[in-house]
This record gives sequence, structure tokens and C-alpha cells, in this order.
Amino acid sequence: GETVGGLLDRVAAKYPQRPALVVRAQDVRLNYREFHAEVERVAAGLLALGLERGERIGIWAPNRAEWVVLQFAAPKAGLILVNINPAYRTHELEYSLNKVGCRALVLPRRFKTSHYLAMLTELAPELATASPGQLQAARLPALREVILLDQQDEPGARRWTQLAALGDEAALALLRVREATLNFDDAVNIQFTSGTTGAPKGATLTHHNIVNNGWFIGEAMRLTEQDRLCIPVPFYHCFGMVLGNLACVTHGACMVIPGEGFDALTTLQCVAEERCTGLHGVPTMFIAELEHPRFGEFDLSSLRTGIMAGSPCPIEVMRRVVGEMHMADVTIAYGMTETSPVSFQTVPDDPLERRVDSVGRIHPQLEVKLVDEAGQVVPRGTPGELCTRGYSVMLGYWDDPARTAEVIDEARWMHTGDLAVIDADGYCSIVGRLKDMIIRGGENVYPREIEEFLYGHPKVRDVQVFGVPDPKFGEQVCAWIVLRDGVSASVAEIQDHCRHHLAYYKVPHYVRFVDAFPMTVTGKIQKYLMRDAMAAELA
Ligand code: ATP
Ligand code: MG
Repeated sequence: GETVGGLLDRVAAKYPQRPALVVRAQDVRLNYREFHAEVERVAAGLLALGLERGERIGIWAPNRAEWVVLQFAAPKAGLILVNINPAYRTHELEYSLNKVGCRALVLPRRFKTSHYLAMLTELAPELATASPGQLQAARLPALREVILLDQQDEPGARRWTQLAALGDEAALALLRVREATLNFDDAVNIQFTSGTTGAPKGATLTHHNIVNNGWFIGEAMRLTEQDRLCIPVPFYHCFGMVLGNLACVTHGACMVIPGEGFDALTTLQCVAEERCTGLHGVPTMFIAELEHPRFGEFDLSSLRTGIMAGSPCPIEVMRRVVGEMHMADVTIAYGMTETSPVSFQTVPDDPLERRVDSVGRIHPQLEVKLVDEAGQVVPRGTPGELCTRGYSVMLGYWDDPARTAEVIDEARWMHTGDLAVIDADGYCSIVGRLKDMIIRGGENVYPREIEEFLYGHPKVRDVQVFGVPDPKFGEQVCAWIVLRDGVSASVAEIQDHCRHHLAYYKVPHYVRFVDAFPMTVTGKIQKYLMRDAMAAELA
């Protein structure tokens, strides 16, 4: 049992001179001694603002250096960090700040075309006349402190640089006292789930949850203090913050941040110029990198490892990542925000075919079972709902005992809502989401199987399969397809291709050609929005 702050103290003392953080867009390069010192200053500054143990501090920002610093400073100061999706707009911001009662909020003035400060001021016009730390806004009743990632002053707000300056000797002495009261079982972080199946839920995680998960993730990747991990996935999500930042810090490795948001070219440049040994991404990101017209220009030979996770990976993509991106040790991980997140992961010793057709075996220290609709454990090799138990299961959804009870049962099993199969050797394959399984005229259809099949079609670049309501069959199979550049195809041609190789009930009844799929900022595809769109079209 170690707190997030205790972890950083220990690692920084062990590897003071090793590189800790590179943020290319901001020209930041810190070794562990410098990173630790900056974290301490900011943590002490947060105390100097009068923030109490257990209070919530939100960060609404893309991948920036301050995000990583706050990820360690807030826990050190005994605060609960609240990750706020950079894609949120006023309505969602208001909901999440109020849902968890954020007392402080850290944000940049703007990011790309989003004017964050203008959106905040729209919700809290009182900011213009408030003194710093004294905000009282009718629509954001808990919020007092606004901390701007900007050089320019703004009424009612403090600048990040002022915060660090508040962390003087006296504040550091107070920080020591605060740290002595902290417990590794305390809540330290509220992460909202991706919103793939509906409205995001605020999973509340402890120090123990995330520090240990970060450690085991890094172990599966064989990370050492020699590694440099390129992290183009968002920090606001567990993929960036735990599989990226925490996996690095638990192993003394270096976090290398290519840009504020994902861009294939910037990522390729970063890997080549920084000689990164690892690269993370959801399958869509790896596809974008591999398909980039300038892909061949970059020397990616320093790469060895990385994690592909978040959604199923097409086999073809996996082969190219190993072959063309040199990531021989690439690992596949399965997890969910509610379990810190990772519970299954492949390791480099697993044969390649196991790393494409499974998400590996259960992580150390965790238990797993697959159950049927009645809650009975299913026989090996039979699909069932995946349930996990152990140190990584969240405390619960913040202030939502009813929804918590829907997913964590009395014996502390987390019911994931995912369908999986586990073979005799313990390798787990995710078959799909319980919610996405199509039941057509009584036949169970797993969208994943049809997607894998259609990926093999030469004209298909990307494909998603889901069910749409049907008065006769209950549901019908629908495929949305993104074609490769410059080709065209007909609906009949796709259906004929399926009819030759698949059982009749799996052949997509509806086929649509689209430019892109609705996606969360983490790059996860939101099938429920596609279902809604089809339902509206067919109504
Ligand atoms: P919400 O719960 O808000 O609908 P979400 O479930 O996508 O969104 P996350 O916690 O980010 O939110 O994602 C966890 C889910 O992602 C898992 O339950 C699973 O369905 C899917 N997933 C994660 N890793 C993999 C993987 N390697 N293969 C297949 N699916 C995966
Ligand atoms: Mg979920």
C-alpha cells in the first residue's frame, strides 16, 4: 500500500537524474528530481489556497505538462483529482463539476477552437467581479477557485505560475503534515467512463487502485527506467493517466507527450525524434499512423513495446504494428475505468496469435469468472459475462449508490457488461458488449465476428456492425462502412460477399457507407449513436 505521492517520492529518490517528462509542444524536459520538485511546489500551493483533504479539484484540459504535474500534486495534497473531458461543452461541464462538487478547476484559456474560459464564464458570469478564491456562482455552487493555464491575468482567476509560487517553505511544511494523514485507501481520483454506451459515470478510485494497476501494467510491458513511452492518448481517460503516466512513474520510465491532442503525423515525428521505445494507442490511432502518406519517412526502429487497448483490434492491424512499427513486444490490454482500469493483458512471451485473438490472461492479484444470465458460472469455452474482483475494483460511482449496486455485487464482484470466453490456458477473448449483442430472430449475432470478416474485404477501410430494431426479427444486422480512399462499392456487392461466407442471419440487412463513425474523444466508437441514427432514418 503506497499513496500516489509516496510512489513519486520513492521513485524520484531512486532515479533523480533519469528523464521523467518530455512535453514537446511546451518545450518541457524534466528529470525525476525536477519533476518531483515541481509537483511538491504545486501541492504546497494547493494547500496554501486552503483546499481541505478530500476536496475535489477538476482539470479540464488537453494533454499538457500541468496535467501530469497535477496528477501527482493533487494526491500529495490529499485532494481528489477529477478528470474532465476536454471535449465537454458548457452543459457537460456544469453537470460534472456539480455532480462531484468541484471546489477548484484548472483550465487553459483555449484549446484549438474551444474557448474554455468563455464557456466557464457563460456558466459563471460572477467570475468577472470575484476576487481569486472567492467565486460564488449560482450555477456552480461548490466552485471557489479557478486556476488558468495562461500567462495573462483574468479577473477572479489565479494563474498556474502563481500557484507554484505559493508553494514556499511554510507551505511545504504544511504539506508534510497533510501527507502524514493520508491513507492509500482514500479516494484520489474520479474518472468519468468513456460514454460509449450512454452518459458517462464518475468512477471513484483510490491510491491503492491506480498505483498498483500502473505497476502491473508496466510489469507486463517489461518497462524499466531506460524506457521512453510516447503517450498520444488523452490523460483525462485512464488510458493516458494510468496505462501511460502511472505505468511510467512506477518504473522510473520517461513520459513523452507528442501533442495536446492526437495527430498521426505529430506522433510519428515524436517517436522518431525522441527515440521512443513504446507507443500507446487505440486501434484507430494505429490505423491512422500506418495509413499516413508519410509513414515511410520515419525511423521507428527504437520502438519495442506499447499498448493497444480500448476496443477490439483487427488482426491485420496487429500484424502491421509488429512488422512495420517494430513493436515486437506490443501488448493488448482489456480494462474498464471502474477497475483502474486493466484486468487482462498479454505479455511479450505470449505467442503472437494469442496477442491477436485474445486480451491475454488475468493480471496478478485479480480473480475472474464468467457468468450466464442467471449468475451461474459457465463452462470453460462458453461465452459469459466477465466479472472481476480484487484490489483494482473502484470504491463506486461518486454519489450514486444505486448505479454502483447495479455493477458491484455484495461479494465485491464487478460485473463488466462485456461478453468473454476463456480457454483452457486462461486466455480471454472479448466477444463483445452485452449491450451490443444482436439477437436476430432468436439467433445470437456477435458484431465482432462480422466486423473481422468485413475488414478482410479489399475495399473496406473500417467497419462497425450493430443491431437495429425490427418488427419482424426483433433486430436486424446493420453495417456502417468507411471505404478506402478513391474506391466505391454497392450495398449488393457487400451483401453478396457476406452471403458467400457467413450464415444468412449474419448478413447485414442494412449497409451504409459513411465518412466516419461517431466517436468519444478517446477514439471509442459510439454504436448507440449509430443505432439512434438508423432508428430515426427507418422510422
Ligand atoms: P461507458 O461505460 O460510459 O459506456 P466505456 O465502457 O467505453 O463507456 P471505458 O471504461 O473507457 O468506458 O471502457 C471500458 C470498455 O471498453 C470495456 O467494458 C470494454 O467493452 C471495452 N474494451 C476495453 N478494452 C478492450 C479490448 N482490448 N478489447 C475489446 N474491448 C475492450
Ligand atoms: Mg463501461
